[in-house]
Amino acid sequence: MIDLAIIGGGPAGLSAGLYATRGGIKNVVLFEKGMPGGQITGSSEIENYPGVKDIVSGMEFMEPWQEQCFRFGLTHKMAEVSKISKKDDVFYIHQADGSVDEAKAVIFAAGGRPKRSGVKGEDEYWGKGVSTCATCDGFFYKNKEVVVLGGGDTALEEAVYLSRICSKVYLVHRRDTFRAAPSTIEHVKQNDKIEIITPAVVEEIKGDASGVNAIVIKKTQSGEILTLNVLGIFIFVGYDVNTGILKQDDDSMLCECDAYNSIKVDLSMKTNIPGLFAAGDVRINAPKQVVCAAGDGATAALQAIAYLEHK
Ligand SMILES: Cc1cc2nc3c(=O)[nH]c(=O)nc-3n(C[C@H](O)[C@H](O)[C@H](O)COP(=O)(O)OP(=O)(O)OC[C@H]3O[C@@H](n4cnc5c(N)ncnc54)[C@H](O)[C@@H]3O)c2cc1C
Repeated sequence: MIDLAIIGGGPAGLSAGLYATRGGIKNVVLFEKGMPGGQITGSSEIENYPGVKDIVSGMEFMEPWQEQCFRFGLTHKMAEVSKISKKDDVFYIHQADGSVDEAKAVIFAAGGRPKRSGVKGEDEYWGKGVSTCATCDGFFYKNKEVVVLGGGDTALEEAVYLSRICSKVYLVHRRDTFRAAPSTIEHVKQNDKIEIITPAVVEEIKGDASGVNAIVIKKTQSGEILTLNVLGIFIFVGYDVNTGILKQDDDSMLCECDAYNSIKVDLSMKTNIPGLFAAGDVRINAPKQVVCAAGDGATAALQAIAYLEHK
């Protein structure tokens, strides 16, 4: 039986693997369906990880993480987990190829993905002017104009964040009302660096080899077309957490989750199920940053060590 199964090999899973193996747990298996590294490997640059002063691509940034973990004995099983269940104190890791492994404890770190809007040009300029994270990429647009697409809490909060860095933020939303907390809406309306364009849709993201250079917007009531010559667009149209594999045969979740299926944890990354920990973007209130996911992974591993010792 596996001592500790880690599901997901992004920053949270790899950091958990490092701390668990260095902490003396012998049989630690990382279930990762692809190459370890996680979402950040899709980013062309990361410059906000403390201690890494050069701007590097997400792929380059994550390469040493796996090397470091494997040196301390972490095993990578390249497998897609399809379900996790628990019976009589044993966790069952069901995999897409039909195999099942047993584990004494689990750290769940399967991350998530920002939803794509489907706008023309989004895929082409993803990471080259199209971003889903103001904290990650806002600084690249210091004193420049940007567009924010979306009408929920995240879109509005990120628009306010960007207004502190950028010279102007155009907030585009398809309805003329927002689905955000009234105080956040008020905050946006009173911010003179944010121009609200509603009801409107982004028709196309245009650019060239250097990245985005224009956003074409259609005002849906008048049909008027606006072309904004900006270098960046931030898209906030939702986020999918990869917690579907926690669903049980009776449709309940293995552990407590919130309305968006993010996993409820306490400050030590414990879920309500003994022996099951969650780390990184899958947990409630995750700041969705590499440094935070890594910290969660380390915290979860220390707790898993204590749990296994106690057992
Ligand atoms: C384009 C982009 C740019 C970003 N830029 C920055 C930045 O500049 N700075 C910053 O701090 N953060 C940035 N982020 C956010 C950062 O990448 C995430 O917060 C971080 O990767 C979360 O780590 P995680 O380990 O929780 O999850 P993830 O990185 O999502 O890793 C989860 C892993 O689990 C695996 N997995 C999922 N389901 C299964 C399954 N069923 N079976 C097996 N494996 C599975 C996935 O393949 C994945 O490798 C960016 C994100 C994106 C998308």
